[in-house]
Amino acid sequence: MSVPQPVRAGFLPGSDATVPPGPDDLALPVAGRRLLTAPDGAFPRVADLPPETRWVPLGTLDGVPAWGAEVIPGEDDGGRWRSWRALAAELPEPLATLAGRALAVLTWRRTHRWCGACRAELADVPGETARRCPGCDLYVPMGLSAAVLTAITRPGPAGGTDELLLVRHAYGPTELWALVAGFLEAGESLEAAVHREVAEEVGLAVGRVTYFGSQPWAMSGPGTLLAGFTATAADPTAEPVVDGRELVQARWFPLDALPAELPPAYSISRWLIDATVTAARR
Ligand SMILES: [Zn+2]
Repeated sequence: MSVPQPVRAGFLPGSDATVPPGPDDLALPVAGRRLLTAPDGAFPRVADLPPETRWVPLGTLDGVPAWGAEVIPGEDDGGRWRSWRALAAELPEPLATLAGRALAVLTWRRTHRWCGACRAELADVPGETARRCPGCDLYVPMGLSAAVLTAITRPGPAGGTDELLLVRHAYGPTELWALVAGFLEAGESLEAAVHREVAEEVGLAVGRVTYFGSQPWAMSGPGTLLAGFTATAADPTAEPVVDGRELVQARWFPLDALPAELPPAYSISRWLIDATVTAARR
């Protein structure tokens, strides 16, 4: 039983299914890695979808309940199927976060249907994004994968601005100059992951590591949380070395002459880069 909460602005994740979906509640139909939006780009309403749709609670947006459902795309869906990348580039941040949660939760449900220990079909745990096995009582919460991103800087030449290390990947958006990044290993702190990833990917050591912020990220699999850090190169004369497999290039760029091919405006990578540039101007 949950305690009634005051209406909060923005997106608030939740798993409360005690009150069934209302016709005007927000609907986020998902098929694979895509979401259905109305022709005007907004989220449809529950009444816009067939009554037999099986809804999963996602939380609230400005106090309005939001529901996701896995559906099979048809010819008369009355809207557009779009990727999270396309939605995040257009929508305000709370709506993009809700869309990301819909993708994450529905993908997790589709891929966690059976007990991994005894093969029985899992049952939903009311009020939680979790399932439990009726056979052996295994508890299966939706897990999150944490990844770290690091904006590494070093002093520039005398009279010049500081420099930022950017890398190019061998796969994914290969044209972008991105930040050093990687997933956490079990048993590792966020800061330790920063040191390890920087050493592994570009062969550098970093000194002070400072937390910047975080962002839920729906592009690297369900339930990914990106944590951003800034760091300074321990040896300002050291040059990066890449392995040529995961990364194909790594370069120092003066902060007043960054390349045009930077991560998109809705990503924490870009927020980190922009904040580093702004801090250097002060
Ligand atoms: Zn089981």
